[in-house]
Amino acid sequence: MRGGELVDWLMDPGVPFGRFQKDKWFHITKDGSAPGPHIVRALSKKIADDNINYRLNSQVVDLLMKDGKVVGATVKTGAGSYKVNAKAVVMATGGFSASHELVKKWAPEWVGRPTTGAVSLTGDGILMAQKVGAQTVAMQEIKANYLCHPLTARDGVSLTAITPYNILINHEGKRFVDEGHTSINFKSRAMMKQTGHEAYAIVDQTAMDNLKLMRNYAAAGYFVKANTVEELASKLKVDQKAFIKTMKDYMAACQAGNLLYC
Ligand SMILES: Cc1cc2nc3c(=O)[nH]c(=O)nc-3n(C[C@H](O)[C@H](O)[C@H](O)COP(=O)(O)OP(=O)(O)OC[C@H]3O[C@@H](n4cnc5c(N)ncnc54)[C@H](O)[C@@H]3O)c2cc1C
Repeated sequence: MRGGELVDWLMDPGVPFGRFQKDKWFHITKDGSAPGPHIVRALSKKIADDNINYRLNSQVVDLLMKDGKVVGATVKTGAGSYKVNAKAVVMATGGFSASHELVKKWAPEWVGRPTTGAVSLTGDGILMAQKVGAQTVAMQEIKANYLCHPLTARDGVSLTAITPYNILINHEGKRFVDEGHTSINFKSRAMMKQTGHEAYAIVDQTAMDNLKLMRNYAAAGYFVKANTVEELASKLKVDQKAFIKTMKDYMAACQAGNLLYC
């Protein structure tokens, strides 16, 4: 299924996608809230409406084969294991970001980096599929979210939400990458080269006003808040003088219509 068709398909049962992010490769909900809960709600309704049989807390541990074809799966639950025979099997077990071994094997560049993926993304489905002959490509191409909560590391900040609104500033108080660049990994790599392998994402009130998701992050205590650039500089671990200059240069450029790095 192509991305656009999938968005239409999700809007049908009620996901309120309404616009695209600047570069038109990410969709955003009308009020800027996180799409995940809307998607889960809409798909749950569809499952109920269509009377689809589904199982939670059930782990696929093996694929059943007959004449070289996948014809079912072995499922493990707290109450034991059983087999499911099926006309068709769709593997949708996600990626492998939670497996240190697989990250080391397929995407060593990102070993030891915090991941915002779910803990269940162990790549076990990929290994099961490979075991029965599935071919994989581009396994090194994992998406490395460069924005996460500094204390918990696991909690991601939505790139979709923040990309058009933030600038990234390192501990030296300088910008170091085009924040509007469409490659997330490009920005992650740039951040990994900075002092402490980290940087601050600076947003202003516009992001708060436009996106419910950002207001939720603020309510959850994700941000350091300040009323002036000088006050913000004093609250961050940055070269204050350089930070203030970077911010003022950037704001002056924006006001003059010359977006630096754009
Ligand atoms: C922080 C963050 C923000 C994101 N923001 C956006 C966004 O704004 N817009 C966007 O389009 N995308 C976004 N993404 C990406 C998007 O969430 C993923 O691309 C998408 O969820 C992948 O879907 P999937 O069905 O392939 O896998 P997943 O959603 O990862 O689902 C895989 C499922 O399989 C289960 N599973 C694994 N192994 C087994 C097993 N052996 N047996 C049974 N079940 C198993 C897992 O528990 C999981 O529930 C974001 C991702 C992250 C981490």
